[in-house]
Amino acid sequence: MDNRRTTLARWVEIDLAAIAHNVAQVRRLLGPEVRLMAVVKADAYGHGLVQASRVALSQGADMLGVTHPEEGIILREAGIAAPILVFRPLLPGEEETAVAFDLTPSISEPEQARRLAAASRKAGRAFPVHLKVETGMGRTGFLPEVLRELAGELFSIRELKWEGIYTHFASAAGDPDFTRHQFLLFSDVVRDLAERGIYFPLRHACNSAAALLYPEMRLDMVRIGTLMYGQLPAGVETDFLGLKDAWSFWTRVIHLQQVRRGTTVGYGRTYRVRRDTTLAVLPVGYSDGFGIDVTPRPSGLLDLVKVLVKTAGAYFGIPWGTQFVSINGKPVPVVGRVGMELSCVDVGKLPDIEIGAPVQLQARRTVLKASIPRLFTGVEEQEGI
Ligand SMILES: *Cc1c(COP(=O)(O)O)cnc(C)c1O
Repeated sequence: MDNRRTTLARWVEIDLAAIAHNVAQVRRLLGPEVRLMAVVKADAYGHGLVQASRVALSQGADMLGVTHPEEGIILREAGIAAPILVFRPLLPGEEETAVAFDLTPSISEPEQARRLAAASRKAGRAFPVHLKVETGMGRTGFLPEVLRELAGELFSIRELKWEGIYTHFASAAGDPDFTRHQFLLFSDVVRDLAERGIYFPLRHACNSAAALLYPEMRLDMVRIGTLMYGQLPAGVETDFLGLKDAWSFWTRVIHLQQVRRGTTVGYGRTYRVRRDTTLAVLPVGYSDGFGIDVTPRPSGLLDLVKVLVKTAGAYFGIPWGTQFVSINGKPVPVVGRVGMELSCVDVGKLPDIEIGAPVQLQARRTVLKASIPRLFTGVEEQEGI
């Protein structure tokens, strides 16, 4: 453990070597024909926008994907020259920024195309764009029938270089039928446009789950986030890529307290200690993304039963569904409600715990406060990061 780490009460460790490994694994899976877009939106899912982008590019990513033009600007200012696709529609007035920083916008309606064409004309060069097709996500993009209708007008805009066309799956792992339906809608539009002489060098549809599950849908490029950071997409069970998780969240025991049986812990007094034990206080809470218990809508009857059993267990004080942290590699249960900034764990079964002992936590990696420092490791192997 290095010196800096021993003085921190909370920190996130980002293993850049793990990201490099994961990108290389995906690259290998795709083979030479399919291009790889590394999706680095949301601060690279909490892994560091610039650092993760550099690693991905060093391992053969061809393009970067972000949500906002601001993210693209940060990458450009860090000296990254790779193509950057901006997923969200640009607001009127953002076109100049896109052109100035050489960001590739997504076009979801004709007005955007016209405004961007005007900005390109001013800059004096044709500007690459990707066309977004809405096939079932219910968010951005041209509906296929609208696109067919507007094709003549849209594709006569000379200032734009129609480099790509893409769509986004709503439930790639969870709903194969709907995914195939979306893919068919998309393929039909692409074919219809091709019949009218309109071709796109980069056709893309797959996110992580789809790229794994449906090789036939990879087309010219896939857009990979989740896998790159070492996580399996929800609904994908087996990891045949040997992914390595790149993110870990650490804190330390800041207080120890011996408590008697019957003591209640935390707000609302929801937890009562059932035997004499030792509690450890940790300086993390729900404002750090820790202990946020999201119960998604049950996806089937079995899922519903699980949720009901868990809820009933909580009512009777049975610790099903309890969260655990890890101390010295051993699971330790969280007790009482997680507070905004503090939480408690029961360390009664670990006799040698001292103040300052490192604790590894699970948390929502994308909502972490900026005040929590990130330590990047694995950089020695990654030249120039
Ligand atoms: C976030 C995002 C992705 C990446 O999704 P993963 O499932 O994390 O791989 C791909 N495409 C678009 C348009 C996205 O917004």
